[in-house]
Amino acid sequence: MPNVVEVRCPAGPQKLFTKLRLGETTARYIQPDNLIEFACYDCTRTLRRAYGGDGTVYHRYNFVGELFETIASTDSAGG
Ligand SMILES: [Zn+2]
Repeated sequence: MPNVVEVRCPAGPQKLFTKLRLGETTARYIQPDNLIEFACYDCTRTLRRAYGGDGTVYHRYNFVGELFETIASTDSAGG
């Protein structure tokens, strides 16, 4: 039986990041929580429009492709 999960942005046009095959480790996992991280250009554009600067939005998913958290890194000087 197929165990493929579509990993998508939770906001906006819900861009497809990847199709995750459960049981395989083709994606790049990051430690310590075995999360998969994708930089999201749609959300990054929204962030930059709202706050300016050079921030980047990342979505992190767990090993079954469920959204774990969304983080925004801002590179504004003098933070
Ligand atoms: Zn996004």
